[in-house]
Amino acid sequence: KIRLENVVKTFETFRAVKDVSLDIESGELVALLGPSGSGKTTILRMVAGLEYSDGGHIYFGDQDATDIPVRDRGVGFVFQHYALFPHMTVADNIAFGMKVSKVKRDKAAIDARVTDLLRLVRLEGLGDRFAAQISGGQRQRVALARALAVDPKVLLLDEPFGALDANVRRDLRRWLREIHSELGITTLFVTHDQEEALDLADRVVILKDGRIVQQGTPQEVCRDPQSAFVMKFLGDAN
Ligand code: ATP
Repeated sequence: KIRLENVVKTFETFRAVKDVSLDIESGELVALLGPSGSGKTTILRMVAGLEYSDGGHIYFGDQDATDIPVRDRGVGFVFQHYALFPHMTVADNIAFGMKVSKVKRDKAAIDARVTDLLRLVRLEGLGDRFAAQISGGQRQRVALARALAVDPKVLLLDEPFGALDANVRRDLRRWLREIHSELGITTLFVTHDQEEALDLADRVVILKDGRIVQQGTPQEVCRDPQSAFVMKFLGDAN
């Protein structure tokens, strides 16, 4: 379980995240939803340890995250702009994190794990392709496989499908839901796309100007939007 308590983040004089409190239960898929600039990415980066908060606390279980070095947080990331190594094969991209990990695996174990992950992300047979030779949607699957390779406890996804066209996004949503129910890994998913958040998440957290303005299951927030902003923002999906 991850808990944010009154988290604040200021860039020079600009307060990007204001007093955000949020619980993410183990195994839950939570979407952070909000317009551009509402603080979603900043929250994700603080959970990852890539950015420090300057107020409040973030807990992983009962441990304060500031006491946990970034590489020991057990988080896996996927970003919008897939940072695959284009000159490496798909298999080598997936294996990369395992090779640099503290947990030492021999080559046979790494190969077996890569095969399992390729199956999981439904890319069997593409292991020998270069990353530059596969589609954008396939690259995001590889990026997820790479994030999963080191057995993260938490997955952080920042607009992972943002650069892709609508049909591919829809397919990837369905696919991510399947993977999530298969693995049950705690997942925090950032998006500005209402439809994506409502379709994917167990719980949707809606942000505006660095604050949470409403949260609940997709049904709850759709049925009972608590402000004109939420009503308009969700309405824009239709
Ligand atoms: P988007 O969907 O556009 O990525 P977001 O909701 O993820 O938006 P953030 O990226 O978290 O928003 O940014 C929140 C605010 O903080 C924005 O106004 C942004 O300009 C500002 N901000 C983010 N990072 C920095 C930084 N390193 N220095 C200064 N300001 C920043």
